[in-house]
Amino acid sequence: MAIFDPFKIHPAKPYHLDYSGLDRDDVSRKSPKLLGQLLSDPKTKFVPVWRSQNFFSKHGKPLSAMRVIKLKNVSRFIEMAEIIYLGRDRNQDAHVCLDLSKVEPKMLEPLNNFGVFGDLREADVSISGDDGSIMGYARAICHWHQQNKHCSSCGSVTISANSGHHRKCKKNDCGATLFPRTDPAVIIAVTFENQILLGRQADWPKGMLSVLAGFVEPGETPEHAAAREVFEEAGVLTKNIVYKYSQPWPFPASLMLGFTSEAESIELAVNTDEVEMAGWFTREEIGLFEGGNFHLPRKLSISRRLIDDWLLKSKSYDTAR
Ligand SMILES: [Zn+2]
Repeated sequence: MAIFDPFKIHPAKPYHLDYSGLDRDDVSRKSPKLLGQLLSDPKTKFVPVWRSQNFFSKHGKPLSAMRVIKLKNVSRFIEMAEIIYLGRDRNQDAHVCLDLSKVEPKMLEPLNNFGVFGDLREADVSISGDDGSIMGYARAICHWHQQNKHCSSCGSVTISANSGHHRKCKKNDCGATLFPRTDPAVIIAVTFENQILLGRQADWPKGMLSVLAGFVEPGETPEHAAAREVFEEAGVLTKNIVYKYSQPWPFPASLMLGFTSEAESIELAVNTDEVEMAGWFTREEIGLFEGGNFHLPRKLSISRRLIDDWLLKSKSYDTAR
């Protein structure tokens, strides 16, 4: 059987959340027998998620590699878990997500022998694209299940279907099918001559500055949303908006669409209801961040990639960070 390898479709080397990681195998997941077969197959790789935390290996750097579990080590949790077929890797191995959020922490102690639960946002930069993207996928779809226990049409209880990729309303005269949702968001590097526009939200880590971002509103193109966000937050009109990269951002359910653009002028009118501050920075000023009061976003984020692109003035900035 051919395996669809998402890695091969990217024109630039993707980041840790960008690969999509698995052949999602839409054909197999339609079978109502699939989960039962996978839950009795000792080769199945189980991907645990617990209350939005992913399961990492205890070996190597902290939070640097995914840990999958064999059936015999998770069988005690199956009855309590939401079960989602994620797809197959390049070796044809099936990956099944187990949402263990209903399990009390004390009961999870046997899993301590195999790995540790942690926040994917804190993953080490050495994490592989496959591991990061599979964990991001698992985290996002678990969140969707948790948020859709009731029908958005009639309010009745829903049940998982299509191997965990739909939810169906149980009420006979409704029967609505709910599909997983992703929220598009835009993030935009705005430059003016030799400066880049950086800002910060009040609830971000102390001293962190980043390019501006926001959600796409109904009836809006991403380009429009990007220009609107910059105007709303910093009072700057932009031109030459160019799409660069995307990055799934499953915290909890976003897809980040990254753009570059140029400001019409350097004048700012910062809206402090939207951002705590925003301002123009030269490369030299950013070079002095280290050890000072400011810092850039974590490596592996699309925000950092857009900033690093500009810092290095390279159109094909390609790194395994
Ligand atoms: Zn319904």
